[in-house]
Amino acid sequence: MRRFQTQFSLLISVLILSGFSGCISDEVIFGDNDRGISGGLVMACLDSSKYTELVIEVDFESGYQPKSSSTDLLKQRLEEVCDKPDGVTITFTETVFGNQGTWTDDDVRSYGWEHKENQPQTSSTLHWQIIFPSGKYYQDSVLGVAVDASTVAIFGDSVEEAKGPIFGRPSAEEVEKSVIVHEIGHLLGLVNIVYESLYDHEDADHPNHSNNEDSVMYWAIESTSIGSIISGELPDEFDEWDLQDMNDMKTGKVEVNYQLWTP
Ligand SMILES: [Zn+2]
Repeated sequence: MRRFQTQFSLLISVLILSGFSGCISDEVIFGDNDRGISGGLVMACLDSSKYTELVIEVDFESGYQPKSSSTDLLKQRLEEVCDKPDGVTITFTETVFGNQGTWTDDDVRSYGWEHKENQPQTSSTLHWQIIFPSGKYYQDSVLGVAVDASTVAIFGDSVEEAKGPIFGRPSAEEVEKSVIVHEIGHLLGLVNIVYESLYDHEDADHPNHSNNEDSVMYWAIESTSIGSIISGELPDEFDEWDLQDMNDMKTGKVEVNYQLWTP
């Protein structure tokens, strides 16, 4: 479906989003701990020579389990880009994180790692984790955040608030589908986190995000004002440049940095 942006909604979004900082943890972009940075395990996903299986561990607080339509879509998107002959599996565990108040990147890292069932690189299986906690990110316009090479959080209360103002479109379910693929897209290194794209599709004002509103990596996908910015259907797939970037990383056409594992 065609999407369009009215001047009015553009004005509103500029007002709302000025000062907005984005959903990748700046801190870990420059970190060098063994948890890596977002995109630090992209080659482990794109290549099957060591890791033949991918498990996505979904840890959710009571009442915050993602819809099966979202996780089914995520599995499909991962199967489209990652080479995993033994498959992509998603596991679900109800979890009490015990964090009071808002979430920082450090909170997501520490509570996330405390509850990981496996180290990210275990035998021939790659483990990534998505937590769905109660409570919001400390910047309450942020729907989700990728904090290291294997850990993502999605904030259900904020996803609920991101529903569109008119007739509830987009619905919270549609927002959740886009955000879950978007955040995992950051674990896949998009856009330009661990490589330099051969194509000019990174948004100049929103680093590590796409300038194409038909890409799930479009910068507005992470924001509660998404419903005012994108009219019509939300993107929930990688566009041709995102796919090309991943292909270029896999084939060695571009240099891939900050990797915790290389083929
Ligand atoms: Zn993002």
